[in-house]
Amino acid sequence: SPNISPRAIRQLPEAVANRIAAGEVVERPASVVKELVENALDAGATRIEIEIAGGGRELIRVRDDGSGIPGGQIALALARHATSKIDGESLFSITSFGFRGEALPSIGSVARLRLTSSDGTEAREIRAAAGRLEAPRPAAHPRGTTVEVRDLFYATPARLKFLKSDRAETQAISEIVRRLALAVPRVGIRLSEVSAEPRLLFRAEPEPGPEDAARLARAERVIGRGFAENAVPVAAEREGLRLTGHAGLPTAARGSAVAQHVFVNGRPVRDRLLSGALRAAYADFLPRERHAALALHLDCPPEMVDVNVHPAKAEVRFRAPGVVRGLVISAIIHALAAAGHRSSTVMSG
Ligand code: ADP
Ligand code: MG
Repeated sequence: SPNISPRAIRQLPEAVANRIAAGEVVERPASVVKELVENALDAGATRIEIEIAGGGRELIRVRDDGSGIPGGQIALALARHATSKIDGESLFSITSFGFRGEALPSIGSVARLRLTSSDGTEAREIRAAAGRLEAPRPAAHPRGTTVEVRDLFYATPARLKFLKSDRAETQAISEIVRRLALAVPRVGIRLSEVSAEPRLLFRAEPEPGPEDAARLARAERVIGRGFAENAVPVAAEREGLRLTGHAGLPTAARGSAVAQHVFVNGRPVRDRLLSGALRAAYADFLPRERHAALALHLDCPPEMVDVNVHPAKAEVRFRAPGVVRGLVISAIIHALAAAGHRSSTVMSG
C-alpha cells in the first residue's frame, strides 16, 4: 500500500544470517557429510573416517589426519566468511573444494557442533549449538581434525520435517562419500553406521601405483567389480580441455545414472550440459532409460570454468560449453569405436 512508511534497515544478527546461509548450504545430512569430507581433503588428509547414526540426523562424525587448525584460529573456523583457502582476490584459481567459509558456521547454526583440531603442536576444541559459540578450550587430539555434528536441524524444525527416512538419508550419504572417494584415489575413506549393530557402509584403502591405475582401481571399488573389464579408456584433448578416464560399455549399462561420475578439475560435478553430452554420446547404443557407468575427468584451465555457481549443488558453468559438449561426445564415441562399438553419429573433430 502507498501508505507504508519506511522501516529502518538493519544488519542481521550473525546467528540469523548464518541460519539463512545454512538453508542454502545444508539441505540434508548428506550435504553436511560432503562439506566435512571436502574440508578434510582440503587439509591434505590421507585417511578419513566417517561415522553416522540415524541417517546422519543424530550423529555425523568426520575424523581426518590432515593439517589441523592452529590453536589460536579454531574460533575463526566457525566465523562466517572466514576461510584459509582463498586470498580474497581471485575466484578463478580455486584449487580447493571449499572457498566460501560458510559450511562450519552454517552447520553450527542448525545443529550441535563440536570441532576438535590439532596442528601437531596443541589441540583445541570449540562447541556451537544453534549458533551459540562456547569459548575454545584445550583438548587432546593427534594432528588432524574431528568434527562431530549432532541433532541436525533441531534448531530449524521446518527443515527437519523435509528429511526422508533414515534409510534414504543414509543412502544419500553413501552416494556422496563414494563420489568423493572416486575423486581422490590416494585417500583412504571409511563410512560406517554406529548403532547397536555397527555397519560398515563403504571402505577404500589408499590406491597405490601410477595415477591411471589408482583411478581405475578406485573406480572398481566405488562403481563395482567388473567395471574395468566392461569399460574403455578415454583420452582426448581440445582447445585446452582434456578428458580422461573410463567409459562403460553399452552392454554393461544400468537402469540408473548413479554410476555416472564426472569430475571437473577434480571436483565431482552433476551438470545438465555434461549429462546431455553423455546421453548424446550413447544415443546410438542405449535407450534413454539406460545409463553407462563411467568415471571421467575433465581438466581445463581454471579460467574456463566457474565453480562458484551454487554452494550445495554440483553445477559448474563453462566458458565454452559447445567445446565441452563436442569433446565429451567425440571422445566417448571414439573410445567405443576403438573397442568395436560403431556409432552412426557423424563425428566432429
Ligand atoms: P571453507 O572450506 O569454505 O574455507 P568452512 O566453513 O568449511 O569454509 O571451513 C572454514 C575453515 O576452517 C577452513 O577454511 C579451514 O581453514 C578450517 N577447517 C575446516 N575444517 C577443517 C579440517 N578438517 N582440517 C583443517 N582445517 C579445517
Ligand atoms: Mg569447507
